[in-house]
Amino acid sequence: MHWADVLAEELIKENKKHVLATGITPSGPIHIGNMREVLTTDAVYRSLHKKGVDAELIYIADDYDHLRKVYPYLPKSYEQYVGMPISDIPCPCGDHKSYADHYLVAFLNSLGEIGINPTVYRASEMYKTGKYTEAIQIALENTEKIKEIIEKISKRQLPKGWIPFNIRCDKCGKVTSAKAVLYDFPYIEYVCDCGYEGEIDVRKGGVGKLPWRVDWPARWKMLGVTFEPFGKDLGTAGGARDTGEKIVQEVYNYPPPKYTVYEFILLKGKGAMHSSKGTALSSEEMLHMTPPEVLRFLIIRNQPNKHMVFDSGIGLLNLVDEYDKLERVYFGKEEEIKGMKDLKKTYELSQPYDTPKDIPYQLPYRHLITIVQIGKSWEAVKKILLRTGQIPKDLSKEDEEHLKQRIEHVGYWLEKFAPDMVKFTVKKNLPKLNLDKQQKTFLSSLKEISSSLEWDAESIHNAIYASSEKQNMQIKIAFKTIYQIILGQEKGPRAGYFLSNLDKDFVLKRFEEAVK
Ligand SMILES: [Zn+2]
Ligand SMILES: [Zn+2]
Repeated sequence: MHWADVLAEELIKENKKHVLATGITPSGPIHIGNMREVLTTDAVYRSLHKKGVDAELIYIADDYDHLRKVYPYLPKSYEQYVGMPISDIPCPCGDHKSYADHYLVAFLNSLGEIGINPTVYRASEMYKTGKYTEAIQIALENTEKIKEIIEKISKRQLPKGWIPFNIRCDKCGKVTSAKAVLYDFPYIEYVCDCGYEGEIDVRKGGVGKLPWRVDWPARWKMLGVTFEPFGKDLGTAGGARDTGEKIVQEVYNYPPPKYTVYEFILLKGKGAMHSSKGTALSSEEMLHMTPPEVLRFLIIRNQPNKHMVFDSGIGLLNLVDEYDKLERVYFGKEEEIKGMKDLKKTYELSQPYDTPKDIPYQLPYRHLITIVQIGKSWEAVKKILLRTGQIPKDLSKEDEEHLKQRIEHVGYWLEKFAPDMVKFTVKKNLPKLNLDKQQKTFLSSLKEISSSLEWDAESIHNAIYASSEKQNMQIKIAFKTIYQIILGQEKGPRAGYFLSNLDKDFVLKRFEEAVK
């Protein structure tokens, strides 16, 4: 059974509506680790749905959390905002409502592209509109109990006079520097490090927030959460999950949600991703370079607790190939290979939206890498594909859309992540070269054979071999010669296939110019 079904079965044991939660503090570029959390939850959500269970998928943006420090990607001037809720801080680019939105909006948009459409909650709104009021009051009434739980489980000493509420100072706007001096429901008098002394009414929204260890269990109860996965960093003994379980039961009188612990995604060559250290690859970037079904596939096919490495180089091409193979097997076009686990479910859960009824038109991804560098725009690429018969004239609208989308991903990857070894530019004019006599004779011979040739990859490939043999020339020099005169470099994509995608007259003319 696929892991998503295993988790769904576990939830179904309790016959009720299920609320599956996922979320993040958008304090920096949202990295692929969070994508894993969302996709993991979405997979369980879809499995429940398929079994006819009433379920909801929610995404909680912890945008009332405070800025911890000036991260490397922030201007120095952000020092003044440290300690303020990130929804109260201006956005670094000036185009968003807040610092939090700066990172959140792009991520939420990309979720739609991979077929995830959760109900979104923003902590800032929940606090400001008073949704948390009851939870805050309950926490304050249970200050001693909560303190005891946290101290016992986390083995951490809390300061004298600690209360489970971080007051937002009216003057400096920070939620980290005000200390309560007197609590008499509903008022808390406080003094702040900034020198301000004031009073808040906890029944009013936006006067502060619960500390993370209390906030998490409070919202389980508030939103009726029954399932929420978390990264292994939160699952450590004495961590927020441990204290949360106890607090939700003993203070909020609500059962802790079921969960799964997911592992980090490592970026090849960079190690674990941490947005705060700048080693992260943002989710948006990952999605720009990876077709959505392939990104889903990467996460869906692995158990959540399996650590994964994402390779944004050549590894990405292998990943797409593996997905395409799974697709062929799913539609019975190819034999299943050993080790393909839960292939049907994996394929279906990899689809951003509906599972296609017929196999989408496939072109080898590596071929697209070559063609995009020749054609650049979708229109030009399409022309080449039609001329060379790589796509039929009556390609369906869906297939065309699918192909077009892949071309866009290839383009982004080539621009930002592709290793130099796969990159090339077709030179408009003959590059300056010093070809030797043998190279020139080879080109003359190839030109002669080519003029009467069917302009397809195999024929061209054979012609290159025939011409080089005639000159007693090493085949690798033959290839090198071709790349030199067309690309101005010594290596390039598979020559027969490559040349077949170029206009035949253009190639013949280049041969002629090169031997002059
Ligand atoms: Zn912005
Ligand atoms: Zn203050």
